[in-house]
Amino acid sequence: MKRRQFIKKASLTGVGIAVGSSLSSCVENPSKENKNEMIMTANISKTPIAICTWAFVAANAKAGEQLSKGKKALNSAIAGVAIEEENIKNTTVGKGGAPDREGNVTLDACVMDSNGDCGSVICVENITNVAALAKRVMTETPHVMLTGFGAEEFAYRQGFKKDKLLTEDSKKAWEEWLKSPEYKPLINIENHDTIGMLCMDSNGNIAGACTTSGLSYKMKGRVGDSPIIGSGLFIDNEIGGAVATGMGEEVLKTVGSFLIVELMRNGMSPQKACEEAVKRITSKNERYKEFQIAYIAMNTSGDVGSYCIHKGFTYMKYQNGENKNIHSDYFVEA
Ligand code: ASP
Repeated sequence: MKRRQFIKKASLTGVGIAVGSSLSSCVENPSKENKNEMIMTANISKTPIAICTWAFVAANAKAGEQLSKGKKALNSAIAGVAIEEENIKNTTVGKGGAPDREGNVTLDACVMDSNGDCGSVICVENITNVAALAKRVMTETPHVMLTGFGAEEFAYRQGFKKDKLLTEDSKKAWEEWLKSPEYKPLINIENHDTIGMLCMDSNGNIAGACTTSGLSYKMKGRVGDSPIIGSGLFIDNEIGGAVATGMGEEVLKTVGSFLIVELMRNGMSPQKACEEAVKRITSKNERYKEFQIAYIAMNTSGDVGSYCIHKGFTYMKYQNGENKNIHSDYFVEA
């Protein structure tokens, strides 16, 4: 039985419904004739919202602009993150991203749609728009994930162009690092800016995308949280969505984005759910002092929240033509 039918049936038969966050967008029609009829406001004409990790002003504005034109949530998110994938000044997303310790730029991305479908690509070389590629995995194959050379070959078959991802600047920085190559897989405030984006379209549907070149000078083959559904990104259109940035290994260990959506399902606000997910990490041991993790989340009512370990994380929010950079709450000052 569809949710709408269930709600209507329940109200007509007098069956009580526990009003949880997934039903918070139902209102009772106050008119006498329709006293018992529940009206669904979800999925009808919502104000579009786009949020993304970090101060990616142009990327979030692009997504907001697409949503305002009536584009769907997933396509808007992919169009938004593409701005950073193509931005060669951004050293941890797409073209211009820092390479692994052997000098190869390898990209990770995933997307998740409002109907629960998802796609992911891992360790892809020579392709810039990997979030769009992840969508093709979702729509054009019977699979969810493609890795490495297989993902790259699939991209060419889908008409994606071969691109040189290692720019002169990122090559120079890598050569500098090679002079005293210390392998410390730590993510500090300067050294991470994966873009994770959540969009709600005018139909009230939520979808998201997450794309990164991962840890700078990572071990060949290293994969973080960003392309892993449930860790870097998770959407449940009945509840909301969440996305992560920061030390991927720690997000993976706690399946952070899925955890946030489940906490929201159990009644937490996006803000409280992000806080709880960060606390799952910080409560384990003291190692959190050395790395950053940040989450952003949105529920079906359009409420958003964010929490990070260390002060300094900001995120973007687009709504009603306004694109704001917001300082996240944090667990520790330094
Ligand atoms: N989460 C990404 C990773 O671990 C890194 C980042 O957000 O900067 O690959």
